[in-house]
Amino acid sequence: MRAQKRWDRKAVLELLGVRATRDKQALFDQADTVRRERMGDAVYLRGIVEFSNSCANDCLYCGIRAANHRVARYRLDDAEILDLARRMEGVGQTTIVLQSGEAPSREGDAALGRLIGRIKAETGLAVTLSVGNRPRDVYALWRDCGLDRYLLRFETSDPTLFAHLHPDCDLSERLRCLGDLRSLGLQTGGGFMVGLPGETLEILADNILLCRELDLDMIGLGPFLPHPDTPLGRSQNAYALDPDRHFVALAVTRLVNPDTHIPATTAFDALFPGTGRNLALIRGANVFMPSATPVARRGDYLLYPGKPCLDETGEACARCVLSRLSTLGRTVGQGPGHARRLDRPWPGQPATPCPEGCDHPPLPTA
Ligand code: SAH
Repeated sequence: MRAQKRWDRKAVLELLGVRATRDKQALFDQADTVRRERMGDAVYLRGIVEFSNSCANDCLYCGIRAANHRVARYRLDDAEILDLARRMEGVGQTTIVLQSGEAPSREGDAALGRLIGRIKAETGLAVTLSVGNRPRDVYALWRDCGLDRYLLRFETSDPTLFAHLHPDCDLSERLRCLGDLRSLGLQTGGGFMVGLPGETLEILADNILLCRELDLDMIGLGPFLPHPDTPLGRSQNAYALDPDRHFVALAVTRLVNPDTHIPATTAFDALFPGTGRNLALIRGANVFMPSATPVARRGDYLLYPGKPCLDETGEACARCVLSRLSTLGRTVGQGPGHARRLDRPWPGQPATPCPEGCDHPPLPTA
């Protein structure tokens, strides 16, 4: 039910190849319609805290790679993170996303588990983690501490390109992690960058189809932006001459994955200042991740250049998203906005059979 089978590789490639402005607009409209029909008009707000930029890896594209010595490394302490979490609840944000670079240690894993437990005990937030490849038992530990979801983009479905970009990892290892997360019952997010140097339309099509094959609960995708202090600093985005192709990729991802949460990622605003994320919301996206990272640290978490709102506070980002949504005529998602397959009613929502006609029994009233 969740996966729409009619999009095969040839059809996806045809959609990705649209050139005429009119055809692109028709595709965007179709994606918006599917988003409305399958996910509704509510936009789920997931506040993101970039809690550490320490990283042992050297991904060729990433501004916080280990070899970039221009970065001042930081880690927020738990009290500060908990304070940020508590503030999210008052502004319609029902999930906290904790993201960081990758400097794993067993003590760090255990400490993160304790933090997840505290956030779950002390707030009503769902918790998402995005801290990279870890062994299955670590994911299991975090799940047992109350973790709801995990984001781990596969970045590209092409094994050769993946290996070139990641000196520390290969694609099969990344897919092993995604499989572990899924089999542990965590809501699992994957995704990819659009326009990596060396990316062809065929690779892009396979990225989108891999999302469906993995049956992802969330898909994060956004433009690749060359960071000057990385080995790809002088490379160009593969679609530099036709930046709208990033929205084409988003729209096709929505058509092929109709029931998946798809955020309007910040990188869209970096490529299209002021408008990128709004356009993403009307071209397939149904989630927004306002930044809650403290202002003093935002400039130290530059994965790519042009990141917006570096001198804004979390409160300003919270206000900004609410005004974006009202401009677009969209509402704020109520409840945690879990994966569709886990949909549970929240207080006040009546039990109804699944409107999609899925064969799970009517859900109980909370
Ligand atoms: N260490 C975590 C978090 C990575 S940051 C992990 O590996 O999962 C989140 C995402 O930012 C990455 O998955 C990548 O897709 C994106 N990103 C990193 N550098 C980028 C760049 N130069 N341009 C666009 N997106 C980038």
